[in-house]
Amino acid sequence: MKEKYDIVVVGGGPAGSWTAKNAAENGASVLVLEKDREIGLPVRCGEGISEPGLKKLVDVKEQWIAAKIKGAELIAPNGTVVRTYASGFGYIVHRKVFDADLAAMAAEAGAEIKTRAYVHDLIIENGKIAGVEFSHLGQAYRVKAKIVIGADGIESRVGRWAGIDTSVPMNEMDTCVQMTLANININPEVVQFYLGKDIAPGGYLWVFPKGPRSANVGLGISGDYSGDKKAIDYLTDFIDKRFPAASVLTMVAGGVPTMKTLDTIVRDGLMLVGDAAHQINPLSGGGILYAMIAGKCAGRVAAEAIKANDVSARRLQEYVKEWMNEGGKNNERAYRIKSVVNHFSDEELNRIGDMLKDVPPEKMTILQIFKTALVKHPKLILDASRIFK
Ligand code: FAD
Repeated sequence: MKEKYDIVVVGGGPAGSWTAKNAAENGASVLVLEKDREIGLPVRCGEGISEPGLKKLVDVKEQWIAAKIKGAELIAPNGTVVRTYASGFGYIVHRKVFDADLAAMAAEAGAEIKTRAYVHDLIIENGKIAGVEFSHLGQAYRVKAKIVIGADGIESRVGRWAGIDTSVPMNEMDTCVQMTLANININPEVVQFYLGKDIAPGGYLWVFPKGPRSANVGLGISGDYSGDKKAIDYLTDFIDKRFPAASVLTMVAGGVPTMKTLDTIVRDGLMLVGDAAHQINPLSGGGILYAMIAGKCAGRVAAEAIKANDVSARRLQEYVKEWMNEGGKNNERAYRIKSVVNHFSDEELNRIGDMLKDVPPEKMTILQIFKTALVKHPKLILDASRIFK
């Protein structure tokens, strides 16, 4: 490890690795510091990802894929099923393998990666961000950098250290819990989304197949609805009824901010990327693709800023502009839609289900589902048309 790099990236998730890869490819010297022992573990994710979205960013490798998904089923509170089986729908990946490969690609591009490296503060010199302090195997280190990039996930502290308000209001934070189940009967090519206040109030429950007889089964509950019954209670109730013979292989819990990107994601010598910047799809809670899209923009802009010897917030603002065009505008559109659909009553959801249940799955599109759901909100139909082209 050198004493000084152009860029230090805090966090080795998809945001950190993709930022590092793109920065290194554009000529910057990059160090990635990851606190965990192994890149990709622990997995706190449903591991669902859009096939067309991922293919736009990277050549997809077979070893990442646990299941190829051909369609989705939305199950209304009264049990009505709406099916959409468009081709090229998505993947359920093995995040452990996927994240490790993204990090390996960053390394191939020239980035250095250090695990068990817990960053605990920024170095500030003459009022400017000048690097980070971290501990590794019980020893304290300081490493200098012209730009520090916080890709440290939902519990990000890098932003806070730089004086950015990264707090998430309670009602904008979904509480998620998930179990990986074995010994269950599922269609391994179809993802399911269960809706309704008795299943996952203000959110949804997902069944994401990981193989012929196993799946990630989880749910997110909107902060608006947090009451006596906890997310884990909703999930165990569902599993007891739907998959009574299941064995639980893993259980994870975590928060997902279902809000817009933070107002401030750059400062002089500092950038935030991925969950740390709240670059998440507020409608689905999915963040892998957004993390990579943002990482691509951030890595390139950071490397160009280094070349131009100008790491001011003004210069780094180009990242914000690029992110807004590549993902940020859709993030805002999805936020507007979420703010309405999360408050649909069970009756409303049943009504939508009844209207769509007889459409053949090959003819049904996600856009059509939203067009029906948002019939009383024409401006949001426009938003949906932009997202689900
Ligand atoms: P992370 O993947 O969280 O990576 C951040 C990294 O920073 C971590 O490795 C962490 O160890 C490291 N770090 C943190 N602090 C420090 C520090 N001080 N020093 C060094 N390293 C540090 N998204 C989808 O697209 N599809 C899904 O199906 C999906 N399901 C989800 C289910 C659940 C239950 C949850 C909680 C989230 C889900 N998400 C899903 C969201 C997705 O997991 C995140 O959006 C995605 O991981 C964001 O990537 P990231 O790199 O920004 O953050």
